[in-house]
Amino acid sequence: MTNDLIKETYTLSNGMTVPKIGFGCYNPKGGDTYGMIRRAIDAGYTYFDTASLYETERALGQAVKDSGKRREDFIIASKAWHDEMGAGNVREAFFRSLKRLQLDYIDLFLIHWPRPNTQCDWKKLDLETWSELEKLKEQGFIRALGVSNFLPHHLENLLDHSDTKPVVDQMELHPGYLQEAAVRFCQEHEILPQAWGPIGRGWIFQNSVVNDLSSKYGKSFAQICLRFLLQRGIQPMPKAMSEEHMWENADVFDFEISREDMWLMSCMPQTDWLGEHPDLAIPQKASNPDQ
Ligand code: NAD
Repeated sequence: MTNDLIKETYTLSNGMTVPKIGFGCYNPKGGDTYGMIRRAIDAGYTYFDTASLYETERALGQAVKDSGKRREDFIIASKAWHDEMGAGNVREAFFRSLKRLQLDYIDLFLIHWPRPNTQCDWKKLDLETWSELEKLKEQGFIRALGVSNFLPHHLENLLDHSDTKPVVDQMELHPGYLQEAAVRFCQEHEILPQAWGPIGRGWIFQNSVVNDLSSKYGKSFAQICLRFLLQRGIQPMPKAMSEEHMWENADVFDFEISREDMWLMSCMPQTDWLGEHPDLAIPQKASNPDQ
């Protein structure tokens, strides 16, 4: 059975429409990624977020192929990891992703992190990478370009020196970690903020503010988090293994968090975060070209 709960869409600055909720394909604990994605397709998700680092591109490509749906019914997004940046590197990395996904084109391709390490000339590297991605887009291999974990100063570098504006910026965003300045900057520049870790990888579940609102609205913690992000104009990318959680996370379009409660959640004490700041600490894991 397929649900059609995620009917609402955002329109990106290049005119593309995307469902308001995507599905995250990061599955670090392993397990049956292919089965997870097939269940998510059956549950009605059509936007899938992966990355070369996640090593889930093959499973995603196969699941899309086996679904019996049309390619154009899906929005597939992937990302280049920090050791895949630079003109030649990113072109090769892109075609490795395309091959693993068994696709002719990718809908959205993102730079995963703005700076590989704190010492390098990241502005030059980002621009060189971006310019190569622009060529791939012109050649019809990519429909839209985006970024991930970019803060306003990283975005300004692209906006000031290139003709292509990123259509999305994927950041860690959830109640208690809102990155207000970055979200505001994105929205002022028609860049759709996407939320990774939108239900806070479980930390939120102990939070008393979210807990109380969950009881008040008769919705789960996850649904309160996702609804909150949607009402802030953000596109969440929840990941879930179980069918029950997949359905629950899509079922957030039939209620409204009140203005007062939105302010309460917006001003609640900070919760935890993953601890990776794009300018301070970056994940050092290398990509695996042979995956
Ligand atoms: P998440 O907030 O989506 O949390 C996932 C965890 O919550 C899983 O353990 C899942 O089983 C559980 N869960 C899901 N639905 C639930 C529900 N309704 N009730 C209770 N528990 C539930 O965090 P995430 O997986 O870190 O992030 C989501 C996606 O964002 C990833 O899969 C990936 O696509 C993307 N991501 C991007 C970056 C980046 O740097 N761009 C980094 C991390 C993740």
